[in-house]
Amino acid sequence: THFGFETVPEAEKESRVAGVFSNVAASYDTMNDFMSLGIHRLWKDHFVRSLNPGSSSTVDSPGWKMLDIAGGTGDIAFRLLDHATDINNSPSSTIIISDINPSMLAEGKKRSLATSYANSPRLSFLVANAEDLNTIESNSVDLYTVAFGIRNFTNKEKALREAYRVLKPGGVFACLEFSGVTNSLFDAVYKRWSFSAIPLIGQLVAGDRASYQYLVESIEKFPKQEEFRDMIKDAGFMVPGKGWEDLTGGIAAIHKGIKP
Ligand code: SAM
Repeated sequence: THFGFETVPEAEKESRVAGVFSNVAASYDTMNDFMSLGIHRLWKDHFVRSLNPGSSSTVDSPGWKMLDIAGGTGDIAFRLLDHATDINNSPSSTIIISDINPSMLAEGKKRSLATSYANSPRLSFLVANAEDLNTIESNSVDLYTVAFGIRNFTNKEKALREAYRVLKPGGVFACLEFSGVTNSLFDAVYKRWSFSAIPLIGQLVAGDRASYQYLVESIEKFPKQEEFRDMIKDAGFMVPGKGWEDLTGGIAAIHKGIKP
């Protein structure tokens, strides 16, 4: 309602989303920590552990080819590489961090310099729209991740079809995203917190109320667990079990799909 996103043309929505993330790139971590009370870090750790990247690869075997979409500041990618290397002894696993926004990606590149993957051939960066990954070959990726990204995409179905295309048969699509709180009392408390406190914190900490207002509204509009699971199925994926795992009562959820 504040941006009237529904009433603006798609191209304009895209540029507004770009504006939101250019505005928040620098204060991104501080804000995430504030808004989630630090819990987003635990969710990300759990997400990566559940994917067990680099498993069943050895020092001499090829390792996993991973693609982190909407990878922004590298938060997920560095965790995936760490897990592959330290837990699964897979120093040949590689990752492409891709994001539509060059400033977010530049932040990720900068942060990579402080990791052991600085200028490593295991890590590369790609500016691309998740809806069109034409520089990535079909059937080439073992693991596709997207964390807190897909709800910003204009055409989510198209992005899911691209995920399906680039994955190898047997490859895994994995998404960490805000979702639906399952307990109605907790939901009422959560909604009050997010709709009043988050824009206010955005204003006070980042000096940017509108961007955080948009983030809250985009969370509210994103399909809930079942519906998103069905979208993943519709793109051609097999979903293991019920198709998702709730985190912190459904504030966030992990959805997975396997390309047959
Ligand atoms: N994955 C990181 C994390 O978990 O901290 C960053 C998430 S950030 C909230 C969302 C990212 O999605 C932004 O960096 C934004 O530029 C990116 N994004 C938005 N629309 C996109 C699109 N169509 N294709 C690729 N990335 C997009």
